[in-house]
Amino acid sequence: MAIERTLSIIKPDATRRNLTGAVADRLERAGLRIVAQKRLRLSRAQAEAFYAVHRERPFFNDLCTFMTSGPVVAQVLEGDNAVAKNREVMGATDPAKAAAGTIRKDFAESIEANSAHGSDSIENAAVEIAFFFSAIEIVG
Ligand code: ATP
Ligand code: MG
Repeated sequence: MAIERTLSIIKPDATRRNLTGAVADRLERAGLRIVAQKRLRLSRAQAEAFYAVHRERPFFNDLCTFMTSGPVVAQVLEGDNAVAKNREVMGATDPAKAAAGTIRKDFAESIEANSAHGSDSIENAAVEIAFFFSAIEIVG
């Protein structure tokens, strides 16, 4: 398996409930290494740019409102097969459909407020990492 990097975001519902460490613990226990991390509050324009791929979806406006409702913690995760492994640890988008023991099953409030984001491909991971971090901020 190849060493990959992926972009993770601990979403505002999780930071609000003081679950930053709990979510990070799940990632680390799965063998993912946090090689960069920052807490920030997205502006509306930043949220819209990050989720631009979803701009035609009915939930886009609400999603951007949610993602700007409080702080997020952006992380670069590194490890074997990191893109797929992170999505496995997060679980399905809808917590009602997420497998037992996943972040979203255990922590998410709803399909929207679902505690974590993870890049869905190596190509998107590279774009999303560059959205939040410069090369000098990533220390493997
Ligand atoms: P993410 O991209 O955040 O890792 P994902 O890849 O599992 O999640 P996407 O289809 O990319 O899911 O949707 C992006 C985000 O938009 C979801 O994580 C969720 O917060 C929100 N979302 C997705 N579908 C819905 C929906 N039907 N209703 C409300 N919000 C939704
Ligand atoms: Mg997605």
